[in-house]
Amino acid sequence: MLSLIYLIGSVTFIVGLKMLSNPASARKGNAIAAGGMTLAILGTIFLYRNHGEGLHNYGWIMAGLLIGGVIGLVSAKRVKMTAMPEMVSLFNGMGGACAALISVVEFEHMIDPIFRESAPVRMQLVIIFAGMIIGAVSFAGSVIAWGKLNGSIRDVSFRGQHIFNLLILAVILLLAVIVTAMLPPATVVLFVVVLLLSLLYGVCFVLPIGGADMPVVISLLNSFTGVAAACGGFLYNNPVMLTGGILVGSAGTILTILMCKAMNRSLRNVLIGSFGGPKAASANKEQGAYKEISLSDTAVIMAYAQKVMIVPGYGLAVAQAQHACHELETLLEARGVEVRYAIHPVAGRMPGHMNVLLAEADVSYEKLLEMEQANGQFNTTDVVLVLGANDVVNPAAKNDPASPIYGMPILEVENARSVIVNKRSMKPGYAGIENDLFFQPKTSMLFGDAKHVIQQLVAEIVNS
Ligand code: NDP
Repeated sequence: MLSLIYLIGSVTFIVGLKMLSNPASARKGNAIAAGGMTLAILGTIFLYRNHGEGLHNYGWIMAGLLIGGVIGLVSAKRVKMTAMPEMVSLFNGMGGACAALISVVEFEHMIDPIFRESAPVRMQLVIIFAGMIIGAVSFAGSVIAWGKLNGSIRDVSFRGQHIFNLLILAVILLLAVIVTAMLPPATVVLFVVVLLLSLLYGVCFVLPIGGADMPVVISLLNSFTGVAAACGGFLYNNPVMLTGGILVGSAGTILTILMCKAMNRSLRNVLIGSFGGPKAASANKEQGAYKEISLSDTAVIMAYAQKVMIVPGYGLAVAQAQHACHELETLLEARGVEVRYAIHPVAGRMPGHMNVLLAEADVSYEKLLEMEQANGQFNTTDVVLVLGANDVVNPAAKNDPASPIYGMPILEVENARSVIVNKRSMKPGYAGIENDLFFQPKTSMLFGDAKHVIQQLVAEIVNS
């Protein structure tokens, strides 16, 4: 019965993950996988038998489930869209901590001579160490990433930091080999040292990485947690834990690679590049003059256009302007204007950020164009309205080899007949660099908070 439950659980993870790749089925996919996970947890609690004996400590287990469940539910309900990467980071860290704790508990079992005789000890120790080291790195790294995202921890780097990190890693591996060769109980102290060093490594690994690169780091740490959980699956010979861990590990790795590709940066550059830091800011150069446009002129231009393309960015999420944006789209469509959204793969601060935001406001999925599709349509577009986006429309990525974003694929909005950019000031975006687009003759700046500006724009169009 339990094997069947585990099989069903594993299948729901795979089906759920597949469904997550499409916005229309993502919500259902998430629910299916969560259902499978609930089934696997309940199955383990009530049906697991070891030599005919079930689990003990039901009180502790239920209390843990209840406390964890309530905290998870309340925080997921309350979290703001812009704070989502922070929450993902913290939850991921908890997964890493769980995997490390499993290894600690299993190591303690090894101190018992009866257990040592009954199991292939060295093989078990290899898995215990893998789970503990990777899980502890993921936990400590995720907590630092969380702190960086909410601004309570700043980037810290010193000369030779990467060599120092490599040295810690080398000591961790060396001690793990020694413990595996000498076996417990003589090596308990060394085991604790490995645990502490792994936590230190997690901190030192994430501290120097530019705060703005945290979403990529979180995705990488997420894949670490998956691998650590899969180690637990090996230890307990538990297929559902193994499948879940492997899926998280591989999905996290693929996502990390996709994010790096979309920014045209190598993982190495993300990990040691300090992107968005002082170096990037120094790449700024003097620009010419820009021109401003009034709300009423914008309303007229948009209302009489045939085709409008909206480019959402991080600023749209900050302003929570998705509903107002949908209202503007509906209004324009009612007047016969064709409206589409051009979605850059890394617009915002996490993968799929814009898709999730716009879906929340009931924007139809068919209206969302991926970068390649959108780039093919800008030359037939009358007006591009850039809402709180900056780097993803910066032509320096194509024209300026000295720019830190050179090579990053961008939305080629300058091919449209006219471009209106809404942001609050001339301040740079995530990469910390000026944007040539704002100074081009075709471009007009419409300053103000995205939500406020769109609401006023809607009022102008209604009254015109
Ligand atoms: P940017 O960070 O480049 O620009 C956002 C702009 O929004 C800013 O220039 C800001 O200008 C403006 N803004 C902020 N608040 C508001 C507001 N309330 N109303 C109107 N405008 C506002 O964002 P993009 O989306 O263009 O680019 C995303 C960047 O993040 C890329 O560089 C990408 O590589 C990076 N990134 C993305 C990840 C992802 O997975 N999506 C992961 C890691 C990095 P002002 O202050 O003047 O208003």
